[in-house]
Amino acid sequence: MWYTAILEETGHLALENRKMKTTITTSFKETQKIGEEFAKKLKGGEVLALYGDLGSGKTTFMQGLAKGLGIERNIISPTFIIMRTYHLKGEVLKNLYHLDLYRIENESQAVELGLEELMEDSENIVAIEWPEKIENLMPSNKITIYFTYLNDDKREIRIDN
Ligand code: ADP
Ligand code: MG
Repeated sequence: MWYTAILEETGHLALENRKMKTTITTSFKETQKIGEEFAKKLKGGEVLALYGDLGSGKTTFMQGLAKGLGIERNIISPTFIIMRTYHLKGEVLKNLYHLDLYRIENESQAVELGLEELMEDSENIVAIEWPEKIENLMPSNKITIYFTYLNDDKREIRIDN
């Protein structure tokens, strides 16, 4: 898939099979860089499912992704407000929605945000930390990325094909 090609293009590909591609980053900057490269490939309408424990690098990846989309505002974790909206200046891409669902109690809280409509709109990019909280609402064509803490500076990043 086009989005797993990122790992080759940034010189990161470590492991590959038909189902997924895996890499290891050794600094937060490398993880940001992957996010930044990723952003350049987005066409609109993508939903990113970012799995991984606290501290595994999901928000760090999003910082790079936001930069790649031309967002100058610093990306902070939306943990306490669930969703942050960033308006984009692009002709095609209009909004980035960054969600952190760690604290939601049920799927209806995400429905109340209008998430389903946001995910269907081809002008939007929707990136979701803790998508396991709303497994039933996630579209089947989502892009799934798994983050794993290996040690202080190392993270494994796996992108499903
Ligand atoms: P999450 O959103 O998954 O909870 P964050 O991205 O907020 O995680 O936090 C990851 C932390 O780990 C940050 O403080 C970041 O600087 C640090 N870090 C160290 N090495 C890496 C790496 N290789 N990739 C991503 N983050 C890293
Ligand atoms: Mg986070």
